Amino acid sequence: MKILVLNSGSSSVKYQMFDADEQFCLAKGVVERIGMAGALLTHKPHDRDVVRLSGEILDHKMAIEYVLSIMLSKNHGVIGNKSEIAAVGHRVVHGGEAFSGSVLIKSDVIKEIARCIDFAPLHNPPNLKGIRAVQAILPDIPQVAVFDTAFHQSMPEHAYMYGLPYVLYKRHGIRRYGFHGMSHRFVSNRAAALLGKPKAELKLITCHLGNGASVAAVDHGKSVDTSMGFTPLEGLLMGTRSGDIDPAIVLHIMNKEELSMHEANTMLNKHSGIIGLSGVSSDMREIEEEYENNNRAKLAHDVFCYRLKKYIGAYAAAMGGLDAVVFTGGIGENSAMVRRHTLKGLEFLGILLDEEKNSSPSTDERGICKPESKVNVLVIPTNEELVIAMDTKRIVEESAAAG
Ligand code: ADP
Repeated sequence: MKILVLNSGSSSVKYQMFDADEQFCLAKGVVERIGMAGALLTHKPHDRDVVRLSGEILDHKMAIEYVLSIMLSKNHGVIGNKSEIAAVGHRVVHGGEAFSGSVLIKSDVIKEIARCIDFAPLHNPPNLKGIRAVQAILPDIPQVAVFDTAFHQSMPEHAYMYGLPYVLYKRHGIRRYGFHGMSHRFVSNRAAALLGKPKAELKLITCHLGNGASVAAVDHGKSVDTSMGFTPLEGLLMGTRSGDIDPAIVLHIMNKEELSMHEANTMLNKHSGIIGLSGVSSDMREIEEEYENNNRAKLAHDVFCYRLKKYIGAYAAAMGGLDAVVFTGGIGENSAMVRRHTLKGLEFLGILLDEEKNSSPSTDERGICKPESKVNVLVIPTNEELVIAMDTKRIVEESAAAG
């Protein structure tokens, strides 16, 4: 079964074509600069070289038509006919409280995603554009929405409520939602498989550390807490986002620096975090290169690891125990230094890192703790697109079986 996975952003569409029966990616790529001069398609079939094509791509519909034409092309294609595509799976950022799992897209689902635009004004509108474009281009093909927020809908009320007037929750949906749900779900499932135990017997802390970063407490296979909140700004220090701060700072700075709401938002989301603290880069590799020579690069790295350590301690307490810590995302999978600095001092929790395993350049799923460690430490490469493809396959098959 061939499944096309789409991640539609404001000026880009990322895609992967899967053979879902084999869990294999046939081709992937991205269309960038949609609606701008010099739009660019970068396409990589699994068995051939990367191709780059530029042209005029005015909107998401043209972008997806372009993607389909290259998928069918003689030299760069991976399918013979459009009808081979059994379904399209979309990444949708915000499903609010309406979706606790992936769903077949029907008109009521579209309405609900549109209702969540208020929560994710930069993400849900382009996600919807992708869905509507596919409806127009491939009207008979089923589509599935897979949400970033859905996995965290299992959080209990005491974890998702803020200490704000309750009426704000009722009136505006102000609560913690959490993000990166596909990644936390994927790596927690893989962790259970690697440990050879049912999910129901495991208390896991999954650390998704990329440009955006979040931690989740996964108890019995369910997310019971996560560090991102109403928006992806809360929680860990990130590449360009502040993570947790005293909310009064925002009001104080807006007043002192005469910032507009837009400027304050940009400061918190684009000029804070690792780039803001270090003044060097938002990229962890560059921070680590400068760690010994540049005090502020060291500071940013230290704050990043300290925050993560605090969350690990907090979530072990929240779950009343811990079986494994899982690292994923570009930083989690690749930075031995972040893993080392984060876990140093957590020996009292029963975490004993094996430094040789931690420093191995392997890119495979692997355990990196000492044999006597009470708590396992795992590095598991994430694969959010595969989650979307597999959910899409399952939902389409279930709906076909239900007639
Ligand atoms: P995104 O959230 O955009 O998907 P990624 O998951 O690809 O991001 O993570 C990007 C981050 O991973 C960057 O900060 C990058 O520096 C970091 N990273 C990638 N490789 C390494 C490495 N070998 N050592 C340290 N950090 C790394």
